Amino acid sequence: MKKFDVIVIGGGPAGLISARDIAASGYNVLLVDMKKEIGRPVQCAEAITKYAFENNDIQIDERWVKQRVKGIKILLPGDRCFYSKVESLSIDRYLFEQNLAKKAIDNNATIKLKTQMKKISKNKDSWEVNTNNGIYQSKTIIGADGFLSQTARKLDLLTYQEYINAYQYTFRSDDISFDEKNYLCMTMDELFHGGYGWIFPRSDEYNVGVGSRDATINDLKCYCKRLNFDIKKKKKFTAGKVPYYFIFKKRSLPGVIIVGDAAGMTNPVTGGGIHAALYSGRLASKLIVESYDKNNMNHMISYDKIIDKSMFLHPIHRRVANYFNSWTNKDWEFFADTCDGLDMASLTLFKSFLIGLKNPRYMLRAKELLSIRKEMRINQKYGF
Ligand SMILES: Cc1cc2nc3c(=O)[nH]c(=O)nc-3n(C[C@H](O)[C@H](O)[C@H](O)COP(=O)(O)OP(=O)(O)OC[C@H]3O[C@@H](n4cnc5c(N)ncnc54)[C@H](O)[C@@H]3O)c2cc1C
Repeated sequence: MKKFDVIVIGGGPAGLISARDIAASGYNVLLVDMKKEIGRPVQCAEAITKYAFENNDIQIDERWVKQRVKGIKILLPGDRCFYSKVESLSIDRYLFEQNLAKKAIDNNATIKLKTQMKKISKNKDSWEVNTNNGIYQSKTIIGADGFLSQTARKLDLLTYQEYINAYQYTFRSDDISFDEKNYLCMTMDELFHGGYGWIFPRSDEYNVGVGSRDATINDLKCYCKRLNFDIKKKKKFTAGKVPYYFIFKKRSLPGVIIVGDAAGMTNPVTGGGIHAALYSGRLASKLIVESYDKNNMNHMISYDKIIDKSMFLHPIHRRVANYFNSWTNKDWEFFADTCDGLDMASLTLFKSFLIGLKNPRYMLRAKELLSIRKEMRINQKYGF
């Protein structure tokens, strides 16, 4: 049985960055993924803030940048809109992940593809990971296995899960008529059951999708019909799930850390999770390396405390997601009446109060508006 210092289960952004960093510290790391190829298929709208890379010391490489955008434009009923201006990017996630994998391999990490973790068992002070492609042993495992979160389930760490369903078509820019090229557009409407529809420009193409806890492919078809996009012209279809709300007993034990979607780190309002995956993967690798260097396996369980306090798991995200779940188009009209044309940064407490004075029936909603503003401010950096 081959032994490693660390086994990473899952080779998405969370697992790849963990493997890269642990290997860079000189430890022997194995990453297993059941896919045939790192980065494929892409099940993602591929939008992310610039800050996500800065926060993770990742040098932006133009080879995996499809387009830079000025931020998010929220499309509201009656042709009205609201902005959240923050430098963001549409990336080529396949090339981005390939690049991370190359860096991990350059640092001497071993990556085994078509290798699915089937069973994990404890053997004295190490773990045995059974796969369809052999049995491997290590002192620590990282569960980076995405929304299915098999590692956390098998170790009985995850006690509750709810998901967002997401469906997406990719269109060539020439095949649809859509004027906005500088913002990631998000449509808020009761059609999306508390979620939203998106149209993300990416140079020669657009990713167009819908996501919510109750989303179906029909919602995407309705959205495209409304936008006058001919779905026969789509060049790609993808679908997937995103954690909406996961409850954990713990996300770490001496010898185990759960990261990224597997740790339920995704933002329940935006569905964005790449930044959280990178952040949690990096944090896990740092704590594991420190634990090994100090010969103290208990050190790595400080992960829970740090991650719980991180902006990714701030309770405001769930509060706002819960408002949106109950909002009808009347509420979106209220939002449009109050915020049309504004940038989120200019929505102050004073302005909310003035809006309330002008429209007394909205006065009571000012609190919700301010929570939304707070959540969006966090998302400007940490969401996408
Ligand atoms: C349609 C859609 C659109 C999205 N758009 C965005 C967006 O625009 N911006 C954004 O920030 N986020 C977006 N997300 C969310 C984002 O894709 C995830 O948050 C991100 O991929 C999480 O990374 P990860 O490394 O934690 O997990 P993943 O990327 O899911 O990687 C997990 C890996 O584990 C492997 N695996 C699973 N089980 C096993 C096993 N038993 N053995 C071996 N390998 C296993 C899988 O093959 C996979 O490669 C979107 C998601 C969807 C579905």
